[in-house]
Amino acid sequence: MQNLEQNYSLLGQLAPSATLAISAKAKELKAQGIDVVSMTAGEPDFDTPQVIKDACIKAIQDGKVRYLASSGLPELKTEIVKKFANNGINTKAQNIIVSTGAKFAIFQAITCLCGPGDEVVLFAPFWLSYEEMIKASGAKAVILQTSMENDFAPTQKDLEAAITDKTKLIVINSPNNPTGAVYSKETLQMIADIAVKHNIMVLSDEIYEKLIYDTQIQHVSIASLNSKIADLTITVNGFSKAYAMTGWRLGYLTAPLWLTKRIAALQSHATSNATSFVQYAALSALRGEADEDVAKMISAFAKRRQLICNLLSEISKIKFYVPQGAFYVLCDISQTGLSSDEFAKQILENENLAVIPCTAFGAPNAIRLSYACSEDNIKNALVRLKHNLLRIM
Ligand code: PMP
Ligand code: GLU
Repeated sequence: MQNLEQNYSLLGQLAPSATLAISAKAKELKAQGIDVVSMTAGEPDFDTPQVIKDACIKAIQDGKVRYLASSGLPELKTEIVKKFANNGINTKAQNIIVSTGAKFAIFQAITCLCGPGDEVVLFAPFWLSYEEMIKASGAKAVILQTSMENDFAPTQKDLEAAITDKTKLIVINSPNNPTGAVYSKETLQMIADIAVKHNIMVLSDEIYEKLIYDTQIQHVSIASLNSKIADLTITVNGFSKAYAMTGWRLGYLTAPLWLTKRIAALQSHATSNATSFVQYAALSALRGEADEDVAKMISAFAKRRQLICNLLSEISKIKFYVPQGAFYVLCDISQTGLSSDEFAKQILENENLAVIPCTAFGAPNAIRLSYACSEDNIKNALVRLKHNLLRIM
């Protein structure tokens, strides 16, 4: 008889999301009345803008509660096409897929495109889910290290050396989770040239696009660089981060038509349409009705970024990267002699401070601090971090 408990499919072998697990653990400890400070959350602490909530309530009251076209509400696709046009990406409604979260959009793109025998290039540190999604597809993740000194940008030499005749896809994420780095146009051009030269697809995850704090830094979409790279690019975006809509589960992508058709087929069996009234609410977001709220959130994140960087610069035992975007600070903790898993476990036990160890992000010597939390939370966390370092070093 076969052993059912040891014989899983590729999908059955995935590791659970460490970010979600640690965030949940911190919430659980708080609920037990323990004074936990959490720097784990990969989500804005703000409420969703009222105008978006109102649009959702209206959609429910208007009876927008039925199945939609599986790949997305046509009016929303039209707004998404306009949104991509603002990024310099020329696309059409037929190339768009609206999914239950950017995460599922990425999952479908990777699993439709890649399979056993394929290789996917990932630049470390990376958002942990990419690696598991690549595993789910049966392809192999080829991980290229990048360095803080080089702003976590890949070098041409390293990227060229990683390409083989099996390379199917390069995954990029700018602004980046967990580093906060934003790729320069030159870096994107270099990646685009290599992708075009070798006929490799690029998945560009731009979910943190709006969260950039340095006015001299501009978000550039790789697909806007020229039509050749546009034909090879899947661009992903969503509502979770920019509009504080993590729980609503809505994201989208644009891809070349041949791939969009494959993703649409998968989605038609996997989930059907993303929640109908959420898509109506998203229309309000893309039509700019919440732009004032978004601007306020961005300026609050900018202030918090300044605060956390000022406080971290007082701690000599930790090397950190000043993030240009997203809402994370990556801290190198090599000097402590502990692995990031040990460090995170210890600081939670000793100081009731929850941080994300970056082992699953391809950065075993780093922890990630999220500053998507109040200024008091940041101050309190940094006191605990300092205290723990004094204790162990
Ligand atoms: N990409 C990155 C880099 C992320 O950090 C996240 C965080 N959840 C996602 C995609 C997925 O976002 P969502 O599914 O909430 O749209
Ligand atoms: N992306 C966020 C994070 O990195 C949310 C959690 C997740 O989906 O992984 O914390």
